[in-house]
Parts: sequence; C-alpha cells; structure tokens
Amino acid sequence: MVSYSSKPVSSMPTAASQPYVSSRKTVPTRQAIALISEHGDPAAEIGKDAAGGQNVYVRQVGEALAKLGWQVDMFTRKTKPDDAAIVQHSPHCRTIRLVAGPEQFIPRDALFPYMPEFVEAFRAFQSKEGTHYPLVHTNYWMSAWVGLQLKQHSNIQLLHTYHSLGVVKYQTVTDRPAIAATRLAIERQILEHADCIVATSPQEQEALRKLVSEQGYVEVIPCGTDIDNFHTIPRAEARAMLGFDADDAIVLYVGRFDARKGVETLIRACAQLKQGIVNEGTGNRAVNPANLRLVIVGGSDPNGADGLERERNEQLVQSMGLAEQTVFAGQIGHTQLPLYYTAADVCVIPSHYEPFGLVAIEAMACGTPVVASDVGGLKFTVVPNETGLLVPPQDTEAFAQAIERVLSDELWAKKLRRQAPIRVQQNFSWSGVAVRLSDLYRRLLAQSISSTLLFGTATATQPERSEPLPVLKEAALAIGLTKERVTDAEKVVERC
Ligand code: UDP
Repeated sequence: MVSYSSKPVSSMPTAASQPYVSSRKTVPTRQAIALISEHGDPAAEIGKDAAGGQNVYVRQVGEALAKLGWQVDMFTRKTKPDDAAIVQHSPHCRTIRLVAGPEQFIPRDALFPYMPEFVEAFRAFQSKEGTHYPLVHTNYWMSAWVGLQLKQHSNIQLLHTYHSLGVVKYQTVTDRPAIAATRLAIERQILEHADCIVATSPQEQEALRKLVSEQGYVEVIPCGTDIDNFHTIPRAEARAMLGFDADDAIVLYVGRFDARKGVETLIRACAQLKQGIVNEGTGNRAVNPANLRLVIVGGSDPNGADGLERERNEQLVQSMGLAEQTVFAGQIGHTQLPLYYTAADVCVIPSHYEPFGLVAIEAMACGTPVVASDVGGLKFTVVPNETGLLVPPQDTEAFAQAIERVLSDELWAKKLRRQAPIRVQQNFSWSGVAVRLSDLYRRLLAQSISSTLLFGTATATQPERSEPLPVLKEAALAIGLTKERVTDAEKVVERC
C-alpha cells in the first residue's frame, strides 16, 4: 500500500528484534496525488452558491484517500479574495485555491478562458513546493482540459470523472450555451486520451460509449456517502427536533435551485395531491391535505441564478395554493441533514437529468424511500419497489401517484425503509469507493512505471498538443471576452 510511516528508523525496534535494518534514515513519505476540481471547491459550504455533488465528491474522496495513505492535494479556483489559499482538512488532505482569473464567482459557462491561468498557477505551485504529482484526477470538463495540458509535458497518469456529460445535458435544454461545442470536443478528447475515465454508474459508461466515443478506457466506480453520518434515527425523534407533527405527511426535496433539478414538477405534483386529483378515479383520498408538508432544502444567493430560480419556485408555491403546506428550509449542512431525511416520509428527486444524484443515496442511507426521475445515475441507485420508485422525468401526474403510493401504503413503505439503508451500506460507502479508487490509482502508477522501464515512455496515448488549443480562442470570443484577454490566454497556453 502507499501508506508509509515517516518515523525515523532509529525509533523502530532494534536489530536484535529485527533481522534487517535499512541504512536509510527515513522511509519514504506519502505519495502525493492531485485532484483537480476547477469550479467545485471541496472546502466550500455545500448546498449554496451552486456548490453541490461535485464539491462533496472531491472532498469525501480526498479525505478517504488520505486515510488510505495518500497525500491528497485538491486544487480549485479561488473565487473570493478573503478565502484562504490553503485549507487543511486533515493532516494529509488539503484544498489549494489557485488564482486564475478574477477572485469572484464566475458562471461555469464563462470560466473556460481562465483555464490556461489555472494550468500556470498549478505549475507554479508544484515548483514552489518542489512536488511532482505522478497522478492527476480531474473533475468536470474544464479540469479535463487542464489535465490534458499537464499530460502533454509531464509523465502523469490522468484520470477523469465527468460529473455531468454535455451530450446528455444538452438533450434536456432548449438553448445551448456558446461554450457547448468546446465542451463536447473536450469531453471527447478526455475520454480518448486519459489513462482512465471513472464513470459513476453503468448508465454513464453506456452513454460515453454510445454518445461520445468508442475509444478510451473506462472503469465504473460509483459515488458514495458517509454512512456514519447518514444513518437511521427514530422518525418521531427527528420530527420532534425539527418541529413537525407525528401525523404530517412530509415530502422532502434536497438540492440546488436549478430549473433542471425539476422542483417545479414536484410543486405541481404536490398541488395535485392536495386537491386529491390523483385519486379522482377511485374517490379515495389517502393523503389528508391538511397533513401534507412539502419541505424544500437548499441554499441560494439572492443575486445569483439559483436565487432567481428559488423565487420562481416560491411564486409557483403561492399560485398553486401550497404556501401553508410548504417550508423553504434554506441551506442545511450534512450534520443536520439526516434529521430532515429521517423525518420525511419520502424524498423526491425530480431532476430532468442527473449524472449520479448523491441525495438519493443519502436519503436511502437514512431509511427514507425515494421517488426519483428515471434518468442517469438514479436508474442505478434507486431500485424500484425495493428502495423507492422511478417515474418519467417532468411527468407531474406520475410523480403525484408515486408519492401518494409511498404516503398511503404504510406496510410497503416500511419494507422500503428497511431495505434502502442496506443497499447503500453494501454499495455506496465513501470508504468502499475510496478503496476502489486507491486500487485503480495503484494499478495505473504501477503500469506507468513498468512501461517507462520497458519502453522508455509512460503511456502510448499522449494527446496531440494542437487539438485542445483552438477551442480556447473560439470559446473566449464566444462568451465576449475582450481580444486582449484572449491574447493573454493564448500567451499562457504558449508557455504551457
Ligand atoms: N446539500 C447540502 N445542503 C443543502 C442542499 C444540498 O448539503 O442545503 C448537498 C446534498 O446533501 C448533496 C449535494 O448537496 O450531498 C447535492 O448533490 P447531488 O449529487 O444530489 O446534486 P448536484 O448538486 O450534484 O446536482
């Protein structure tokens, strides 16, 4: 394993008890590796400022890998002048915020032209610290570009996790951003040129093969959750702590405010439940409208896009006559979230598109049935009739019916509540995920060493230097950067 003690040999057992004593003064320190997440700051507060699943993934994977013996440095872009340049999470895991572009929030679709500066800042950091990272794991397509630049001139093993796949995402949006073509090109380049792609579900692997490229090496290692934090708590206790009544029928949403997250579908479904439209045919009203509670958890910035989306959702709640039933709980941290999951009767994930969906496994780990859109990673994590139900995305009526089934069939819901945490414990703990990643890293590094020894070269798949560069200029001009800025970016690229 990579875990080495840095204890001096002199403090170890004597030669009398040990047949062999090395002449080295110290044994090697930990192997340093870099995780790159250009916009998803692992040290950020989760659930607001567009911080969500990617931030959680990188931070949790980083911390778990450090426990397995690696020195983990996680690189992100600095977005606030007051933010610390380095945040130490544990003795061997830290977030390093690099200055690349103005120290302010920049929407993802306008961030790419600052990536050459990111590459330069990364290199400067390496030189300053005297570190070389033989393995770089990038997250999201812009970091992929950074990784491809680094790979051109140094012997690194490059891994990539997409988190979101442009080719799938753009199927669900009507207006493609100007950066779309650049993103699609880079998502293909990284698949074909990285040493390994980490897909987080078999569905993502299939999409990569069908929609992006047949070339490239992919392994499926899912996302995980902290099962020590997300666990079952007596429901009555959780409700009492949050001020809910025992007979409330609680429907929970947890996540960012983004139209693609589908909160609108959920609000409309709850309006149907309240009016009893779901059971018009039978005349039964399993959900007492007086008991219905819609709890929406997630932070937002009043001046940001998520703030506007929250406002739109609040107006919809008003116009649908659900104001009395609905609570906008705001941003809630992971220590408090298990109370919300456990208090709820059902957690709903109405996304139009969801690459993995951490909320599904967090809810299931807390023993809460999940009603989710039948898309992406949710098809992998949620097992219909075992841990919840899957319904077509944006289908208000199907959501209303599925939610009502969980609320009204107590015996069946109890079975789901029992089975859900077992599925998570067996498949989706961060420690299990990190062991698989760690094993993959080791294999790649070993392979790199043996091919260097045998052939004098680390990999046979070095990307072409000329490929990723033209798209930068195109992208920069497309989002309206000044010509000077584009030229600056190009100069940096030349130096890279
Ligand atoms: N989250 C949180 N507090 C909130 C809202 C969300 O901690 O108020 C967390 C949530 O627990 C999950 C992450 O944000 O860990 C969202 O991840 P997911 O993969 O479900 O969605 P994404 O943000 O990647 O679209």
